[in-house]
Amino acid sequence: MKYCSECGSANLVRRSPGRDTHSRLVCADCDKIFYHNPRMIAGCIVEHDGKYLMCQRAITPRPGTWTLPAGFMECGEKVEEAAAREVWEETGARVEIIAPYSIFSVPQIDEVYIMFRAQLIEFTDEPGPETMEAKLLSPDEIPWDNIFYPAIKDILQRYIEEKARGTFGIYMGCSEDGTVHFMQ
Ligand code: ZN
Repeated sequence: MKYCSECGSANLVRRSPGRDTHSRLVCADCDKIFYHNPRMIAGCIVEHDGKYLMCQRAITPRPGTWTLPAGFMECGEKVEEAAAREVWEETGARVEIIAPYSIFSVPQIDEVYIMFRAQLIEFTDEPGPETMEAKLLSPDEIPWDNIFYPAIKDILQRYIEEKARGTFGIYMGCSEDGTVHFMQ
């Protein structure tokens, strides 16, 4: 950012305004503070008859790899609406959200993921342009070696284990280190 969007000044400086704990980009002429906050990504794990809804990415980063449907939340949305919309856009499946399943932060890239458990309502087999292919895959059909994000692999593995045990937890933490919480 080169110019203040409020007054057009090029006099932008970094400082901690008032009692703020973080250093911010501030316009030295009109005192406008430019906040930079993490991005929220919402998605779903959709299980149907022991199979899992996955999509093969058609776009960068990592085209050709498989993942769970997820994407950036839009302004004006509830996070669960964003998750269901992303599933629709990426896989052509309509789903109903059941409950949160994994909440993890990736502070290295300033992203927060919220993944929900969801139930399949309708699978139209019309994936959007960001997807090469969307499929329901059984655990032994899942291309485990072609899932780029370890956190996504972890979510799938945990779900398969928890489903076998008959109880689902909620993960909270970072992508590589966190805790699964079970309701009492
Ligand atoms: Zn300004």
